[in-house]
Amino acid sequence: MSEPVKTLPLVFEEPPRRGKPPRHLADLTAAERKARLEELGLPGFRAKQLSAHYFSRLVDDPAQMTDLPAGQRQELVDGLLPHLMTPLRTLEADKGTTVKTLWKLFDGALVESVLMRYPGRVTMCVSSQAGCGMACPFCATGQGGLQRNMSTAEIVEQVVAGARALARGEVAGGPGRVSNVVFMGMGEPMANYKAVIGAVRRLTDPTPDGLGMSARGITVSTVGLVPRIDQLTEEGIPVTLALSLHAPDDELRDELVPVNTRWKVAEAVEAAWNYARVTKRRVSIEYAMMRGINDQAWRADLLGDLLNSYGDWGWVHVNLIPLNPTPGSKWTASDPADEREFVRRLEAKGVPTTVRDTRGSEIDGACGQLAAVDD
Ligand code: SAH
Repeated sequence: MSEPVKTLPLVFEEPPRRGKPPRHLADLTAAERKARLEELGLPGFRAKQLSAHYFSRLVDDPAQMTDLPAGQRQELVDGLLPHLMTPLRTLEADKGTTVKTLWKLFDGALVESVLMRYPGRVTMCVSSQAGCGMACPFCATGQGGLQRNMSTAEIVEQVVAGARALARGEVAGGPGRVSNVVFMGMGEPMANYKAVIGAVRRLTDPTPDGLGMSARGITVSTVGLVPRIDQLTEEGIPVTLALSLHAPDDELRDELVPVNTRWKVAEAVEAAWNYARVTKRRVSIEYAMMRGINDQAWRADLLGDLLNSYGDWGWVHVNLIPLNPTPGSKWTASDPADEREFVRRLEAKGVPTTVRDTRGSEIDGACGQLAAVDD
């Protein structure tokens, strides 16, 4: 039985909104969208048209949805395309080819996304949580704690917004498309598993039901929540898995990635190896190079041996990330000579190794710098 309606007291300050983010067609499968409209007393077949506006035409203005009857348009839009988030600020770097957007969600929570345009591809780096609960001491997001999980639609909307800006030619370099999505913004994607998988499905569903992207262009990055990596292995979606390792030994990793006290280096690497074995997708090991902390030559050898102990059939590659500065962090990036030696030692052991560029660091848009502060 529902409670009787109460008169609300007058309030002079808007209280933080509670409850769930508005339900949007990107949260739903094609069949669920149709059912939702019918539930609202609207014609179910309109769901397909709304989906095409959102995912194919990337339209956000109801006035442009001229194939929907004018008298019903607003109701249809309210039903499946509610307003999800507002861009508060965008910062650009690299002559406009790197764009960081600060978003305000329905309840005031703040998140950031970063668009990075390279010759021949565009990568959207998206957030999956407002804040993060993993508390890695070298990451700006980790310092603020977790506010909340994001919904599937809130995750997808970051990509759609990037796709829209590109399609309209608003990003330096002319009209274009999003080719890659990396779950490397704010949050731990595996701690918001259901919404993240939902988002991956929407990104890969063929148009107009989804964005029609290739799963191979999508990377899910994790601190190593082992049961969730195992679940992803069973999921049967060939996304790229990235494991944020940062240390080959438990003693150091316990400090750098606190969740290591729960799932040890060997367990996390084994889960990643199993992912590669089952999906035939090469796994990426992320390793932020911190001067004098984890960048010693002996640790490169230890890392190489650890990865090779699971076989040398090309199941893995190492992606070194020069540490990006974060407020109050006592750590700095490695000496370039130490970084070169680290790469050399890994390669000598036959482990493919790359060094990531530090796109967006001057706008605090690089790895580990997303703090979503509105200043
Ligand atoms: N929570 C997920 C995804 C977000 S972070 C994860 O940890 O994998 C994406 C990558 O940036 C992770 O490998 C993370 O460890 C790394 N990172 C965090 N802070 C960084 C910093 N200050 N400099 C460089 N990389 C950083």
